[in-house]
Amino acid sequence: MKMRIQIPANLVRKPIVSDIVLKTNVLINLEKVNIEANKADMVVDVKDRWEDVKKAFEERGISVDLLKEPIKRRLDRCVMCGICSTICPVGVFKISDDWEVQIDSSKCIICKNCINLCPTEALSVDY
Ligand code: SF4
Ligand code: SF4
Repeated sequence: MKMRIQIPANLVRKPIVSDIVLKTNVLINLEKVNIEANKADMVVDVKDRWEDVKKAFEERGISVDLLKEPIKRRLDRCVMCGICSTICPVGVFKISDDWEVQIDSSKCIICKNCINLCPTEALSVDY
């Protein structure tokens, strides 16, 4: 399960992720990390027992949003040009044999590259 984790200013200098990995014994894959002086914003992927990890963050006062479908496409806008497939760093977009652009949203790390490139504004993320 992918999750967006928002760490507030009072916790941003603490080893929160390491602490939760040690306490839960669950591996946390950091897919995107943006750390600033007064906040941290991360996208993480947890394969097993993600509920335990979510609870552990929340018990420490940290906001967790589940990202069940990180990237969304409006099919009524998509013209199947395939440009998005040229910029995605993790292979979310695949062009089928009949030239249909297919999406595996579960791979998305929310870099937003494709959103900026799509000529019809067909793509969006939740934040
Ligand atoms: S770039 Fe936009 S219009 Fe082109 S295939 Fe991707 S989602 Fe569709
Ligand atoms: S936001 Fe980034 S990772 Fe997600 S589909 Fe677009 S290019 Fe790929």
